[in-house]
Amino acid sequence: MNPITVHCQNLKKQFADFTAVADLSFTVSRGELLALVGPSGCGKTTALRLMAGFERLDAGRVTIDDQLVDDGQTAVPPEKRRVGMVFQDYAIFPHLSVADNVAFGLPGGRKRNPQRVGEMLTFVGLEGLGERMPHELSGGQQQRVALARALAPEPAVLLLDEPFSNLDAALRREVRGEVRALLRRSGVTSVFVTHDQEEALFMGDQVAVMRGGRLEQMGPPEVVFHQPRTRFVAEFLGSADFVPGTAVTNGVETPLGLLPQLVSAPPGAALEVAVRPDDIFLYTDGEGEDGRLPPNGRVLDRQFLGIAYLYAIGLPDGTTVHSWQPHTVNVPLGTAVRVGFRHQHSFSCFYHGIAC
Ligand code: ADP
Ligand code: MG
Repeated sequence: MNPITVHCQNLKKQFADFTAVADLSFTVSRGELLALVGPSGCGKTTALRLMAGFERLDAGRVTIDDQLVDDGQTAVPPEKRRVGMVFQDYAIFPHLSVADNVAFGLPGGRKRNPQRVGEMLTFVGLEGLGERMPHELSGGQQQRVALARALAPEPAVLLLDEPFSNLDAALRREVRGEVRALLRRSGVTSVFVTHDQEEALFMGDQVAVMRGGRLEQMGPPEVVFHQPRTRFVAEFLGSADFVPGTAVTNGVETPLGLLPQLVSAPPGAALEVAVRPDDIFLYTDGEGEDGRLPPNGRVLDRQFLGIAYLYAIGLPDGTTVHSWQPHTVNVPLGTAVRVGFRHQHSFSCFYHGIAC
């Protein structure tokens, strides 16, 4: 069996003179969940619609489970692609019962497939609710009806387009955990679209970051988060401050001191170092191993986050960096402090926006 279920090669889609998908390539391995994430308007929905067959390619190829479904010339219609869809608004039919909704995609409908409908309702935790009408269910339950309906015909790939965006924040967290567990348990290959970086990192076995109709980076969530290939990815995935630096022979000179890390940029090159709040130590005068060093910043702001404080520190050159500190570290605003790199992993340095 081919370990690759979805193969998108150089997808291109233009609407009049606007290029929605410019040149997009990726694969999804069998049974894996790919989270496709990027800012609004970057072409995520268009990419899904190209896979599903609701849009035709201008160029490129889409292969699903060894079936070439579009090569820019000929296209297999959506109903013959073995693709399941879950939409933002669920698109469950309000006039059909829960069981009839689940049976909708099955040849012969509910009468011919009572067992499969029952299995699917049990699988998503809605057993006994088949005769209810959709409006008699909660938002989270409706979401599970949509999932059961999409999974019932055993699609080769399930495509989900921002499926949680209609749920409020609290329910969203609960439902995404449930849906992730259900998808894992079903073993279905999935592509999950979201503009929310936290959701992408949580849901994906692989995360693909899109920008302007192209793939910026793809990899396991930990890799795209900790080893962003571009400044865009570091910024989009969140919480990064960018500290200016200069490439020198033994590392990168920055307002936080020397970062002893070799980079592939010429000496003298102007760089940016991405730092997140857990990468920055903070000492008040006289404390800690670096306490002997004079202060190099001042506390500008402090947010109490319950389990921690998030400090904003202003550096003399005008840069602001953030530092997570336990709630026991209580430093008043305006205090002169020493901040610097915590060398727990290497830092991402960017030269003209590209990791170096
Ligand atoms: P995303 O899902 O990432 O927010 P979309 O794929 O929906 O982005 O859209 C990408 C871009 O393509 C947007 O600027 C959008 O306005 C444009 N677009 C999408 N569909 C059409 C269409 N049918 N006609 C014209 N422009 C479109
Ligand atoms: Mg969209």
